[in-house]
Amino acid sequence: MLDKQRFDCILLDLHYDNSSGYTLIKSLKGQDGELPSAVVVMTGSGSEEAAVSSLKLGAHDYVTKNNLNGPVLKKVVDYALNCHNLRQELRSRQEDLERINLELGHKDKLKTNFVASASHELRTPVTAMLGLLSMLGDTELDAQQNRLVADLRACSDSLLLTVDDIIDLARVEAGIMEARPYSFHLLDEIQDSLRPLRVLARDKKLSLKSHIHEDLKPWRLGDRRRIRQILNNLVGNAIKYTDTGRIDVTIEQGPDDTVVFSVRDTGIGISEQDQARIFEPFYQADSHGDAKSSGLGLTTCVNLVKALCGQLELESEIGKGSTFRFRIPLPEVASPAPKDDHTNCAENQRTKQHLVVLLAEDNHIISHVLQAQLERRSYTVFLASDGSKALEILKSEPIDVVLMDCQMPNMDGYEATKVIRQELKLELPVIALTADAFQSQRERCLECGMNDILVKPVSIDDLDDYLRSLSL
Ligand code: ADP
Repeated sequence: MLDKQRFDCILLDLHYDNSSGYTLIKSLKGQDGELPSAVVVMTGSGSEEAAVSSLKLGAHDYVTKNNLNGPVLKKVVDYALNCHNLRQELRSRQEDLERINLELGHKDKLKTNFVASASHELRTPVTAMLGLLSMLGDTELDAQQNRLVADLRACSDSLLLTVDDIIDLARVEAGIMEARPYSFHLLDEIQDSLRPLRVLARDKKLSLKSHIHEDLKPWRLGDRRRIRQILNNLVGNAIKYTDTGRIDVTIEQGPDDTVVFSVRDTGIGISEQDQARIFEPFYQADSHGDAKSSGLGLTTCVNLVKALCGQLELESEIGKGSTFRFRIPLPEVASPAPKDDHTNCAENQRTKQHLVVLLAEDNHIISHVLQAQLERRSYTVFLASDGSKALEILKSEPIDVVLMDCQMPNMDGYEATKVIRQELKLELPVIALTADAFQSQRERCLECGMNDILVKPVSIDDLDDYLRSLSL
């Protein structure tokens, strides 16, 4: 009968000669686990256990047979119908929510991808501008021109920082925030990163002092660019949110390989309520929201510290100031051979002058900026605007390492690398330059024979570090 007709309510005895009510309840359930009608189970007196089992299986109510009279029956049937309607309503709302959730997740992913690729598009010309400005700064300029170049550089630097924060946020959402450790001089790095911030502090008549513990060994293995980004954000905030007093940056050796960085200010402080939320993206404490802020700085810091396997902590009191502290592992390393570009160290000159780089990149501005910057650091650079030109150069010049853009006209970087490996049978390092840092891109590059990928646009410092780290 149930196959032929729809019933609003089923009154169900539990025991039959050759089957049971339980079996019927189970077989009535649809794929979503819901019953098509309200089900009221009729039990003998004292069969509470049977009633509970039926309710667990999905029946809406039960009634004992010796209690079956008109009013009781009406009550249980009404109750079961109500219950059934509510369950159906709940189910359909749940389905709506699941669909909306899926759509939102999809839209969020599209948005993240869009933000990531738009930021990359922005970052490329800004990095090129910075390179061009630095080249312009090296030419003969009068005082006013020098000032204009310095102002332009400051604007481009701050634009780049914001774009980097957005890119980093997108990278974290995509699960691809990674650290690239190289050996570096920690103390020089700290002084370098504090230099532009000292100017900001001076403008606000704040004292900015660094305290570096004497026993701290300077040569470390770590991602100096990330550390710089974190310090920039934390000290920048300390200056922004302090009107009078001082900012102290302390760096000391922690347990094992860790180094502890603290940025302490005597600024406005952060309420307990805000402390719980300021690490969220776009959050700004109401009392001092700043139109020029993005609310991304601290989120970036937390993510960066995490990517460096460390922790970020905050202590703060309203009106008294704040201390942001992070500890990250930075293993000690032996100090390398001198690396200053401008020294006349014979060995340095020899190793660097002999490193010959082939840069295959179709964006002329980028390739010329990188070429000029690399040449200033004593690399010899050949340029190719596509894959086939890169192959021609490789056949005739003693190239040590290839920096290969992936997307190029005529022959792209993947194709060219396959030829380098399979036809020219060359084993030199081929490093992909790509704007796409996703795992699938990395796999594609490695599959066609590249050794590693660098995410574009790559700064000259990073590139220099990277090229030095290749054991050639
Ligand atoms: P923003 O770009 O707004 O500075 P952040 O993520 O860097 O974004 O900081 C989030 C919020 O945390 C800020 O809007 C500010 O209210 C608060 N904040 C951050 N650092 C400090 C500090 N040193 N002192 C007081 N408040 C701070």
